[in-house]
Amino acid sequence: MKPANISALPKPGFVIGGKKTTESSIGSYDHLYPANGQLTYAVPLGGKKEMDEAVAAARKAYPAWRAMPVNEKRKLMNRFAQVIRDHGEELKAIVMAENGSPHMMADVFPEWIADLFEYNAGWADKIGGDMITTWPAPAFDYTIDEPYGVIGIIVPWNGPAISFGQMIAPAMAVGNTCIIKPSEFAPYSCIRLGELALEAGIPEGVINVVPGGGEGGTALCSHPGVDKLHFTGGGHTAQKVLSAAQPNLTPVGLELGGKSARLVFADADRQTAIQAALMGCIPMSGQACIAGTRVLVEDSIFDSFVADVQNAASYIKVGDPADADTAMGPLIHKQQMDRVLGFVDRASSNGARIVSGGERLGGDLADGFFVGPTLVADVDASHEVVRDEVFGPVVSFMRFRDEEEAVRLANATPYGLAAYIESNDLKRVHRVAEALDAGSILVNNAYGLPVAAPFGGNKQSGVGRVGGIHGIREFVRTKNVYINMA
Ligand code: NAD
Repeated sequence: MKPANISALPKPGFVIGGKKTTESSIGSYDHLYPANGQLTYAVPLGGKKEMDEAVAAARKAYPAWRAMPVNEKRKLMNRFAQVIRDHGEELKAIVMAENGSPHMMADVFPEWIADLFEYNAGWADKIGGDMITTWPAPAFDYTIDEPYGVIGIIVPWNGPAISFGQMIAPAMAVGNTCIIKPSEFAPYSCIRLGELALEAGIPEGVINVVPGGGEGGTALCSHPGVDKLHFTGGGHTAQKVLSAAQPNLTPVGLELGGKSARLVFADADRQTAIQAALMGCIPMSGQACIAGTRVLVEDSIFDSFVADVQNAASYIKVGDPADADTAMGPLIHKQQMDRVLGFVDRASSNGARIVSGGERLGGDLADGFFVGPTLVADVDASHEVVRDEVFGPVVSFMRFRDEEEAVRLANATPYGLAAYIESNDLKRVHRVAEALDAGSILVNNAYGLPVAAPFGGNKQSGVGRVGGIHGIREFVRTKNVYINMA
């Protein structure tokens, strides 16, 4: 295992009001490279003091940023996108070292983030308001789409650089200023992006970066100077976010977890469906909110399909994130690995069949937090491994008899983030897509979040949408102007 590429990492600290500082008021977290457990840096944690400073900086920057002509905002955001591209190799190295993203995944990140800024920059001069019809009195009524002001953004460790683009780009395009709090487990890409924004000419205080954990998160959520919060993370933390936001009645957008079903019908293209089933394990080693972790397979093909997936899983390369052919890297830290293995052990004790994986990997990988693709069969909806979000490379397989049962099983969860359909029957695809209770439906091994498409969850998977015009709408509020013309 190659050592962590520490030289690629920015010095950890805070980017507040255009300045980088490295002193924390509450201490630091020892960040380990998940592929070998090597210390990268002690990461200073943001607490109340740092959040107060960041909110003050964002408030100070807000009037000028809001008032800046939209074509200027657009140009600055496009320049930032170009700077992100220019630093693409550096950013890839950072995301690999911060959370063990494999090279082939890190490869797409810089272009994706740059795209997010360019796409949203395009909305800066297209968002305005509507003319409203009035009757019977002669009157003139119109709406104005206005920024909220200061947006507090909290993101998890599994894809912080993408979250940076998904939330900050639409928020700033419509005139808000931002504070982003990445997790202490993967703080580096957001810190570097905050620095690069300044290099690109984004004014001081428009983007502030304060890494930290729960203490910093609570300080941000309870801050009276924050006009809207956007939280991405787990449901239990979301409850704490809502409690902290409640005294100020701060509105909160939520992007939460999932337990997404993949419905494999007998008419599906077999090879496509096999690859699709493994997508529940491969991207970010299953630490992906949209991972299709419950594979529901039509009864007539169940046994041979599970055997085919088992065979295909044996070819997946798990290993050094820096190697070009590595498909799966490590889990984020030891606690996450132990949590994942605990799910597998309990499933096995409760009668599940562990078809493959389910163990910590040794040999060259013994110092890192590696678990291979883990396939679990002979389970039903009562098993914890089927019910709860594992957030690791664990996919469970269940049978269904017909379309009606497939939809019922897929919807029988408190989550509603994504659902996947593997079928060549076009009419069935449309029928099932309509019946599935999820924010995103992905068909025939579709994976990813198109920049212009809305993304978000139903039920306990969230409130609101990011992406496209829907994401822009999350960061504006509508004012109505009604003029008496009599
Ligand atoms: P988490 O809920 O533990 O942490 C998320 C963020 O909240 C981190 O930055 C963390 O430091 C912060 N936080 C912790 N305590 C807080 C508090 N009391 N107040 C405010 N903030 C606090 O989640 P995680 O382990 O970092 O990420 C995994 C979860 O995120 C999974 O459930 C996953 O599905 C979800 N997720 C959802 C999406 C989506 O778009 N729907 C995307 C990625 C991850």
